[in-house]
Amino acid sequence: MVDTITAMDALTHPVPAVTEDNAFFWRAAGQGRLVAQRCAACGLLRHPPAVGCPACHCLDHDVVELSGRGQVYSYALLHHPRSPRFRYPVVAVLVDLEEGVRVVSNLVDVDPADIRVGLPVEVAFEPTDDEELAVPVFRPRTGTARTGTARGGAGATDGDAR
Ligand SMILES: [Zn+2]
Repeated sequence: MVDTITAMDALTHPVPAVTEDNAFFWRAAGQGRLVAQRCAACGLLRHPPAVGCPACHCLDHDVVELSGRGQVYSYALLHHPRSPRFRYPVVAVLVDLEEGVRVVSNLVDVDPADIRVGLPVEVAFEPTDDEELAVPVFRPRTGTARTGTARGGAGATDGDAR
């Protein structure tokens, strides 16, 4: 097998596995918004998208936009198996968002040596082969990019942002 796509060419992601339950998430990302479901009964924010609330089993929910700000909870550097659609190492990351939602994503625009637990990050969006859909990824927070709606309690250490 000969791959003709080099790592530098791999600027778009494959189309996500869109279902009726998660389409809102990918379409919002395509509009530059990071969103999550909020339970209509107990208010719990949840991700990934699910039919019902894991806390109270309510089936009703709305969708709210998140700040996109958080910090690295954990990460792993993936070197294999190689796909021409990704840049290596792929940084798989768990991000704790300010709103209390934990998401699995990729960390980009970062030297792997600079990654640490607690690193302040912010969402960015990378295109897919479907122009209406995008993939939320995270990058180190600049500290000046957004002044936004910090809701406290996250304990992020902005002083280390570059
Ligand atoms: Zn609930």
